[in-house]
Amino acid sequence: MTKRAYNFNAGPAALPLEVLEQAQSEFVEFRGSGMSIMEMSHRGAIYEGVHNETKQLLTELLGIPEGYQILFLQGGASTQFAMIPMNFLQGRTGSYVMTGSWADKAVKEAKNFGSTHIAASSEANQFRSIPSLDTFNVPEDSAYLHITSNETIEGTQFQQYPDAGSVPLIADLSSDIMSRPLDVSQFAMIYAGAQKNLGPSGVTVVIVRDDFITEVPKTVPTMFRYETHVKNNSLYNTPPAYSIYMVNLVLQWIKGKGGLAGIERQNREKSGLIYQAIDASGGFYNGFAEKDSRSMMNITFRLQNEELEKKFVKASEAEGFVGLKGHRSVGGLRASAYNAVPYESCKALAQFMAEFQRTNG
Ligand SMILES: *Cc1c(COP(=O)(O)O)cnc(C)c1O
Repeated sequence: MTKRAYNFNAGPAALPLEVLEQAQSEFVEFRGSGMSIMEMSHRGAIYEGVHNETKQLLTELLGIPEGYQILFLQGGASTQFAMIPMNFLQGRTGSYVMTGSWADKAVKEAKNFGSTHIAASSEANQFRSIPSLDTFNVPEDSAYLHITSNETIEGTQFQQYPDAGSVPLIADLSSDIMSRPLDVSQFAMIYAGAQKNLGPSGVTVVIVRDDFITEVPKTVPTMFRYETHVKNNSLYNTPPAYSIYMVNLVLQWIKGKGGLAGIERQNREKSGLIYQAIDASGGFYNGFAEKDSRSMMNITFRLQNEELEKKFVKASEAEGFVGLKGHRSVGGLRASAYNAVPYESCKALAQFMAEFQRTNG
């Protein structure tokens, strides 16, 4: 038996053991082809079968309606921060909701291509919450409204999405895609780097409404046009074939767990165990996010002082926990409990937290 860590890494993150084992079993010879999937043409029937089936699984699990395109791109979600304004601003203003570290990066990148407007911000409370939807100020002539569904570093998450009226809504779902049911029809575009909830790094899933993609200026390079990838079924150039294959396996695994409704139920239970350990600690642990904005994926908390936080990390590592140190920009502690993190890991963490408090409180 392999010894698996209690892996709470923020990204790249835990993958389902069943998926890793299946990938291992077909690593050297892929389904009778005499070679690995990494060694074959991306224009051949075997790879294309996997490619198209992955799109089919996304459509089925997310309930993607007619009129949307699914793309597999490279360069991570960070490249989308630039591609979005390059393709969609065209002299107009992009509206952004400032919820934390990732939203900030998206805005900064957009500023390189045009003007931006902050429709709402939670900076005043150090990004401990998602701004209340009724405070959003979105100019009607905005090219789009961009939100970050889950702020991976601060540990906050939209509980409900805004309705921007006629302004197209774009969401970065890198750290919570497929963690709960989603109404794709609310969005003109959603995107997510795969390495948190969908698979390994190397591929970014983009789902975009047909009518949102229009002609772009000639100065936009071919690879940075959504149009290029739509026209070529994401096979304009060599796709990250192995990453897409792994996403395929993860999606099959999600399907086996009862789809997004089943996954959400488990995620609620898992994050609930850890939030419960925080809330029951009488102030020994302090949740960073405000309760009504808490993320089911990234649970951020602090102890009374940094000394104690260091001790917590060290003691947790000795017990087989990995990845509990908070991001360097905000400090404290963070447990990332993505889809593939088992219930048992969260239960073990809640128990460890209680025990650590007993011996250090
Ligand atoms: C991790 C993350 C990103 C960056 O993803 P890359 O694939 O590393 O570029 C962007 N947005 C959010 C919300 C993230 O969690």
